[in-house]
Amino acid sequence: MSQEERERKQREKEVAEEKGGKQSTLFDFLGNNSEAPQDGNPLQTPSEDSCSKNGTSDFKEITTEAASLTHDPALNPALNKEEILQSWGNSCRECQKCSLYQQRTQAVFGEGNVHAVMMLVGEAPGADEDRQGFPFVGNAGKLLDNILKAISVLRTEIYITNIVKCRPPGNRLPYHGEVESCAYYLSKQIEIIDPAIIVCLGSLSTKSLIDSEAKITLMRGQWCEIGDRWYMPTFHPAALLRDPKKKKPVWEDFQQIKAYYDHINPKQT
Ligand code: SF4
Repeated sequence: MSQEERERKQREKEVAEEKGGKQSTLFDFLGNNSEAPQDGNPLQTPSEDSCSKNGTSDFKEITTEAASLTHDPALNPALNKEEILQSWGNSCRECQKCSLYQQRTQAVFGEGNVHAVMMLVGEAPGADEDRQGFPFVGNAGKLLDNILKAISVLRTEIYITNIVKCRPPGNRLPYHGEVESCAYYLSKQIEIIDPAIIVCLGSLSTKSLIDSEAKITLMRGQWCEIGDRWYMPTFHPAALLRDPKKKKPVWEDFQQIKAYYDHINPKQT
């Protein structure tokens, strides 16, 4: 091997180590606090009362083994955001990292705009999602569509996914190990899409992304600043189907979300 080839390989290795190491975990990815938006209206946008977390979520450091699930398409400079995400989606659909692959019809990676300012993160696919391959397409999804319609946000302008990409049997909540195994895909989605707002739909999403000790009933409706993003926990739409009394607080939460979304994304209003 020539000296030139050796240097090129060394440079590639260093880039790979930097990408794979520095942002290979969701925990790391969420761990750096930054300044609040400079010109926010405190009545409508995240304010000084908002919580500020420092990587206390349930995600543990993703191991080298997890990082080597597949070749990282983000290292290929020839790929654009759509292609990188598509490549991760393909890897996810072939994934057998946890036992949930055994009973799935298909993995549900996520859907939406790869340039989205806002990402919605639910818990796990249900029966309809498992069958159709898209997130939030069952009854809870229809309710979510109505909520989005009410705040004049199109599904096509945001990105929607779940903490875990394969349906747990009987729609049970995913186990801790399954959440851990799947964390790498969500961390990559967040890294590539880079949304300013993440809406945590339900307890699992809130615990996984904001604080493993979080109680959704106490935390919902409060903006949380983690890294350079704002997180808003609220109830999962499925919880509203079980308990219609939760509709009012969720509506209030989405009013806040809409206000901040319009504030940072004025061309969409
Ligand atoms: S739930 Fe996630 S980690 Fe488990 S098999 Fe499906 S894609 Fe892989």
